[in-house]
Amino acid sequence: MTATATGTPATATTASPYQSYVYAYPHKTAYRPLPDRPALRTLWADEPKDALSLYLHVPFCEVRCGFCNLFTRIGAPDGLTTAYLDALDRQATAVREALEDGGRGRDGAGGRGGLRFATAAFGGGTPTFLTAAELTRLCDIAEHRMGADLRAVPLSVEASPATATADRLAVLAERGATRLSLGVQSFVDSEARAAVRPQRRADVEAALARVREARIPVLNIDLIYGIDGQTDATWLHSLDAALAWRPEELYLYPLYVRPLTGLDRRRGGPDPAWDAQRLRLYRLGRDHLLAHGYTQQSMRMFRRADAPPQGADDYACQTDGMIGLGCGARSYTAGLHYSFDYAVGMHEIRGIIDDYVSRPAADFARAEHGRRMTPDEARRRHLLQSLLQAEGLDTDDYRARFGAGPADHFGPELDRFAARGWLADDGPGSPRLRLTPEGLAHSDAIGPELFSPAVRAAMAAYERK
Ligand code: SF4
Repeated sequence: MTATATGTPATATTASPYQSYVYAYPHKTAYRPLPDRPALRTLWADEPKDALSLYLHVPFCEVRCGFCNLFTRIGAPDGLTTAYLDALDRQATAVREALEDGGRGRDGAGGRGGLRFATAAFGGGTPTFLTAAELTRLCDIAEHRMGADLRAVPLSVEASPATATADRLAVLAERGATRLSLGVQSFVDSEARAAVRPQRRADVEAALARVREARIPVLNIDLIYGIDGQTDATWLHSLDAALAWRPEELYLYPLYVRPLTGLDRRRGGPDPAWDAQRLRLYRLGRDHLLAHGYTQQSMRMFRRADAPPQGADDYACQTDGMIGLGCGARSYTAGLHYSFDYAVGMHEIRGIIDDYVSRPAADFARAEHGRRMTPDEARRRHLLQSLLQAEGLDTDDYRARFGAGPADHFGPELDRFAARGWLADDGPGSPRLRLTPEGLAHSDAIGPELFSPAVRAAMAAYERK
């Protein structure tokens, strides 16, 4: 369902609309070392494995953008990318063996052991930091080691303008990439510099031309609003420059200043004027894209209405198992979310990558760091990740999964959102729980309000490094 842009501002709340971007719940800062280091074979034994998501993490970038808190390092000394791919190869082999060893779907359709991937993604960092030959190897690991049929499933890859070279794009297109996401951020050179993401517009345009020439079906362009010096006019200028490429998708990200990132030193404390700037630019951007034939999928994501359907890309992946490979990647079973250790600071990230590449295969057969999912956390995750989509939550589906309606589990929270004008009133008995346009605008305040007290406490106690 498409959200319209006709909503009036909701009842004011004093909290900032920009609390945090909840792209996954619980956040990795709520993960902790798992003293029993459970074997993946046991963890996955009873999990459905016939429609998994595969994610390969490449933790390298050419520059560290000032706003970025992702798990990535700048550059790679000689031999590190090779060592990293060697470790990925060992991890993939160990994980596949563990998954094929146990449980449901053992002889089911779709590959040895019933193991089948429905989607795949290469993220980072910047996967295209790897050379064309290294990307070939990355695809080989996904296909030959993990058994993912990359040409048969949606494959999404992130890239930066400088690394989206013709030879790399050719490899990705040939291996089945269906979506290429380009981190542009701004078409105004001075804004790119202000966000500590220095690049020239001419280079960005050339990269976009190369992506279109590679004929990867879906082009996504990431843009950022809320940059120092950005005005309504310059924001519209960037949006129009992006629209000139008729991207199938656009992500509009509010700028955040997160602890330990490059921009962190520049600001401190609440900043109502900045909040107001970001909300204004959000509404402007949203309305501009809606007027240009895009539909809103979530606060950040817009899709061209006449873009070819993406099939399994639209799959409700929050309910499925996920296998993440690489040292910044998470994996999800119904009962446990796990990953390797997490850091934002450069020194710690380097240490974690160095540790990862030195690991023997046996280490990859166990989960070391994570968070157990209780029934309450599973309900929160489902509510949160569905409600923050424009199409909202299917209440019948929720009831079928969890034995009661969302209002039975989250009555006070939903009442609060409704009182602020953030929940659509679709009438009694409506099968969907949806946010209003203003609710969507406040997604980054709604998400954190749905965190459990336990996750909140773990995140607060996390020592940033
Ligand atoms: S925003 Fe993307 S390109 Fe920039 S440092 Fe983070 S992962 Fe790398």
